[in-house]
Amino acid sequence: MLDVQDHDAQLDRLGHRRRALPAIARVDQLTQQRAELSTRLELERTALSDLSAEVRKADSDVTQVRTRRERDQRRLDTGAVSSPRELEQLQHEIESLGRRISALEDAELEVMEQLEEAQAAVAGTATESAELDAELRAEVAARDEAFAELDREAARLHSERDRTAATVPDELLALYEKVRDQHAGVGAAALRRRACEGCRLELNAADLREITAEPPDAVQRCPECNRLLVRTHESGL
Ligand SMILES: [Zn+2]
Repeated sequence: MLDVQDHDAQLDRLGHRRRALPAIARVDQLTQQRAELSTRLELERTALSDLSAEVRKADSDVTQVRTRRERDQRRLDTGAVSSPRELEQLQHEIESLGRRISALEDAELEVMEQLEEAQAAVAGTATESAELDAELRAEVAARDEAFAELDREAARLHSERDRTAATVPDELLALYEKVRDQHAGVGAAALRRRACEGCRLELNAADLREITAEPPDAVQRCPECNRLLVRTHESGL
């Protein structure tokens, strides 16, 4: 009986170790970081795409005004305009278009700089993301390896436990399981030096007399905690 209890306790500890593996928390943390990074990358890619559109727009703006200035310049050069008033207007417009082109080019340059920054940000985040993926894969592999090792150990303990449990009468085993469920995983405890090892309380003389009066293989319960009490050579009876 105590052997079964011992195996069950070992299995409980193993289960606890499995749930408390540091790799589990690490995988969770990395998975969350990865999700955050993925959101950031998405935002940065959207910003990059918006800026690309802005650069194309700025470029087209400059081209449009340049084309107009070239057309004006041609009219001026070919002498198509003869009226001094119109000529003056044309020259005035060419100058004004020049200033406009200059301003548009400045604006385009600025957007291009932003575009470069956005490209660098996306590249940086993508690298970071790839590194994190590799780290996560390694951590998942380490976690799974630890799981597999603990599972192998649990399987070994389970078969040992089953072999031991087969020597315990079914009714007693069922009672043990029930008590174990109610008493934090400890259903059976040894009576050692007149104390129950389940609740650590010493039995009084009357209780001990009652136990001694029973046959050695009779099922006893601790009067304090109600666990199955198993007599040992060291019971002190
Ligand atoms: Zn007890």
